[in-house]
Amino acid sequence: MIKVVRGMRDLFGTELATWHRVERVIRQMADAYGYREFRTPIVEHTELFKRGVGEGSDIVGKEMYTFDDRGGDSLTLRPEMTAPIVRAAIEHNLVRHQPTSRLWYYGPLFRYERPQKGRYRQFHQFGAELLGSAQPEADAEIILLAWETLRMLGITSVALELNTLGTAASRQAYRDALVEYLQDRKEHLSEDSQRRLQLNPLRILDSKDPADKAITDGAPLLRDHLDVDSQEHFATVRLLLDAAGVPYTVNDRLVRGLDYYSHTVFEITTTDLGSQNAVCGGGRYDPLFAMLGGQETPAVGFSIGVERLVLLLEQLEGGFPPEPPAEVFVVALSDDARLPAQLLAIRLRRAGFTVLSDLQRRSGKAQLKEAAKEGVRWALLLGTDELADETVVVRRMHDGSQTNVGHSELESFLRA
Ligand code: ATP
Ligand code: MG
Repeated sequence: MIKVVRGMRDLFGTELATWHRVERVIRQMADAYGYREFRTPIVEHTELFKRGVGEGSDIVGKEMYTFDDRGGDSLTLRPEMTAPIVRAAIEHNLVRHQPTSRLWYYGPLFRYERPQKGRYRQFHQFGAELLGSAQPEADAEIILLAWETLRMLGITSVALELNTLGTAASRQAYRDALVEYLQDRKEHLSEDSQRRLQLNPLRILDSKDPADKAITDGAPLLRDHLDVDSQEHFATVRLLLDAAGVPYTVNDRLVRGLDYYSHTVFEITTTDLGSQNAVCGGGRYDPLFAMLGGQETPAVGFSIGVERLVLLLEQLEGGFPPEPPAEVFVVALSDDARLPAQLLAIRLRRAGFTVLSDLQRRSGKAQLKEAAKEGVRWALLLGTDELADETVVVRRMHDGSQTNVGHSELESFLRA
């Protein structure tokens, strides 16, 4: 038997109904903040991620689905959305036409990771990118949109952590100080971190390895290397979050691991999902446009993992709520009523009701049983007598009471 690909999931039934609810809230919140949806293809040139995410990242290093197409081009299933959005913004000259672009996206991503609860090889993100503003108000708006979306979904068991990486100059100064400190202690670092020392030294700060942690505990602090501009930028972000009543903690070690971040970085985590605790990640990525060959453009964004939201909602609500049943089941009581029953179903669907009908040509009794199982509000019974006097018997399923209703009054009767 052929099975679904490892780390990928079929979505259906009551779980899918919860996905639809999440998707509705996402759209509603993006609308409220004035963001426009943007859709890009699922595959991009591999080079985009190599340049945009960076060769030193786990994503490019070991998680990408990369293949040659039949023409010999190296393509990659997108592992994240920021690089594709920036690629598209450069390609369509978005920022030149409009000084700030507020964009959001929703869709599947692919990473070759070890599958476990909350970690899949195909997963979905909702995210937003605010292009063209270097101001801290933009950072705050992006964080607010992420935070309020979770709140609107009723997800409150989450915490926001913030940090600032400062300007490119202050980050470089810090990087040098950090590398110097770590270089002297290199042999005590984990293998992964030894490799990162040249490629991506800031990443070592959020390593979970106990040996790395022991060493980085004494490392120089980023906040001691921030210039005045960086400090002021961060202070304004915090001021706005404070004013909006968004709780957060500042985490000195939060670096988000990618080369392109500057100034604000943030993460929203939960204690309810075991080790897959990150729900949202984001930050300012002013260097990225230039890295991808565009005109320098300040930008900030976030992405939220939708599978983890759905898992949280399932926990919170003690399972997935049942899907709403159809309203009507049309029952044919005799053979001569089978076609008229189908026509009645068609007519009521056109009038906006959700309607089921029998497709197995079973007995009236069997159809009524199915109607009860489906949980419909009304069964409409159609037999030889009803055909003759152009009526329908409307049976209220909750108490079994019945009313004979003329054909022409049926819709208004059901709406009353
Ligand atoms: P993690 O530390 O859990 O690997 P990450 O830092 O790789 O997360 P990001 O690249 O920042 O994650 O992606 C943003 C969000 O996407 C994460 O916070 C998480 O909710 C979700 N996410 C990331 N990878 C996966 C995955 N393999 N399966 C499901 N959700 C994921
Ligand atoms: Mg990851």
